[in-house]
Amino acid sequence: MNQQTLILIKPDGLVRSLTGNILTRLSETKLEIIGAKMVRVSKGLAEEHYRDLKGQPFFPELIRYLQGDLHKRPKVMAMVYWGPDAITKVRELAGATNPEEAVPTSIRGSFGRIRTTGLFENVIHASSSPADAEREIKLWFNPDDILTEIYPSKEVVEREIKRRVWAG
Ligand code: UDP
Ligand code: MG
Repeated sequence: MNQQTLILIKPDGLVRSLTGNILTRLSETKLEIIGAKMVRVSKGLAEEHYRDLKGQPFFPELIRYLQGDLHKRPKVMAMVYWGPDAITKVRELAGATNPEEAVPTSIRGSFGRIRTTGLFENVIHASSSPADAEREIKLWFNPDDILTEIYPSKEVVEREIKRRVWAG
């Protein structure tokens, strides 16, 4: 069954120049990239993304990690991959949450580390279920950013919306 999944290259992946490596690994899945962008992550976006983990002792540090505070690189690369069994395929390539337990050849097994504080710095995020994927993709992307109609969308007319446009 065709599915879509959200992948984030977290700030440690970017700071350590792992983007090319990670994309090459992901290309083994033969899935299609239907959305991609660089994002400066606000505290609100990070907290909403990881809202199910609120209350965990590592939550405040996890938010600072996703925002790039721990790596002085305030951005992540967000992508939507699409195709047969996308969620399982990407989770398998990503490897287990704990880099020490991840298969050594997986992305997290190859490049992840555990900080001295105990936080798993594991290079990428990948959605873990169709429901999570839908919630996460809708959080990170607008319908127009994605090249395939994966979820129903509608047109609205907005007035007096402040947005940045090119000056010249
Ligand atoms: N995390 C952590 N310690 C834990 C569990 C999670 O540092 O004991 C971090 C880790 O960066 C992980 C993220 O919180 O990727 C989200 O946790 P989740 O359980 O959703 O794991 P994932 O879906 O990323 O494998
Ligand atoms: Mg998760």
